[in-house]
Amino acid sequence: MNRLPDFHVHRPQGLPQALSALTAEGAQLLAGGTDLLPNLRRGLGRPSVLVDLGALSGQGELDGLTAGADGGLRIGALTTLQTLAGDAALRAGWPVLASAAALVAGPTHRASATLGGNLCQDTRCVFYNQSDWWRSGNGFCLKYQGDRCHVVVKSDRCYATYHGDVAPALMVLDAELEVRGPDGPRRLTVAALFQEDGAQRLTLAPGEMLAAVHLPPPGRWRAQYLKARIREAMDFPLAGVAAALWRDGERIGGLRLAITGSNSAPLRVPTDDFAGAAWDGAAAARLVEAVRKTSNVLATTVAPVRYRRRMLLALARRVVDDLWTAA
Ligand SMILES: Cc1cc2nc3c(=O)[nH]c(=O)nc-3n(C[C@H](O)[C@H](O)[C@H](O)COP(=O)(O)OP(=O)(O)OC[C@H]3O[C@@H](n4cnc5c(N)ncnc54)[C@H](O)[C@@H]3O)c2cc1C
Repeated sequence: MNRLPDFHVHRPQGLPQALSALTAEGAQLLAGGTDLLPNLRRGLGRPSVLVDLGALSGQGELDGLTAGADGGLRIGALTTLQTLAGDAALRAGWPVLASAAALVAGPTHRASATLGGNLCQDTRCVFYNQSDWWRSGNGFCLKYQGDRCHVVVKSDRCYATYHGDVAPALMVLDAELEVRGPDGPRRLTVAALFQEDGAQRLTLAPGEMLAAVHLPPPGRWRAQYLKARIREAMDFPLAGVAAALWRDGERIGGLRLAITGSNSAPLRVPTDDFAGAAWDGAAAARLVEAVRKTSNVLATTVAPVRYRRRMLLALARRVVDDLWTAA
């Protein structure tokens, strides 16, 4: 591990001050720090200013869960994953989000890790999440300080993988994100936060930050998230699949599926044409094929590509099987 680089720390006392601090050249947000600080210790990034949101936790605009008049829920971006995992209203109405949060890292991480930090976490790669010394021996890489991708040689973009657990759960819930920035608030879908480029993973403009997540009422949908990881107690997903199913008798009323751990962004798998079909062997084979076409598992982790791909496809089938049987 390197020593931390030199930076200034701002500790704003309110959201307007945080947004103002974020306009400084080279400024970066610090929430729970469980993703950012280990990366900085490895020499991955050189922010000139860290805007530490610690003093804003406990403030209603950014922290905590608020029920909406329409039966939906607003969750502040600074809400910890530990809070999400244990919240009774969330577990009752949107259990997929509570369980995805509970599956992130280990308990000590979840006590500090926030919803916003989880969504905006960096992408990962075996050629990137290494010490400065290790990376320099390889001539660095396209994601940071180098000009070559070691995973897809001759590529002009970075293929580092997104391994967040919470984003796919939010995608199948049709959640919306509330963004604050210099041009005022705006809302976007979860998919619109991300782009398929490991080095430029987010679409947020300079000075923008996530303020909250809005969940619509669950209605007839039931959802679940499954992940495969090396150590059950604490690891990132090697493959993760969230699904939401509305079962209409012996037919599928609606199906949504999202994947993580496979591409540079969490992705929705096209499933609109499953509405009206029965969930049987043919539908399962079609679903597996749709996941295969959407995903692009590459050699970005120490686990073999073949294993991760097979787990992804198996989890996709299993998660819908489980929801169908339970409905
Ligand atoms: C050993 C280990 C295991 C882990 N396992 C998992 C796992 O299983 N699943 C998983 O999903 N993650 C895992 N992580 C990654 C990380 O701990 C979590 O993703 C955590 O939720 C990050 O939240 P944070 O508040 O600590 O983010 P931070 O580290 O504070 O920030 C992460 C990034 O998000 C940005 N950011 C933070 N808040 C906002 C905001 N409101 N708006 C815009 N940008 C923002 C920061 O600038 C930074 O770039 C693991 C990390 C470690 C070290």
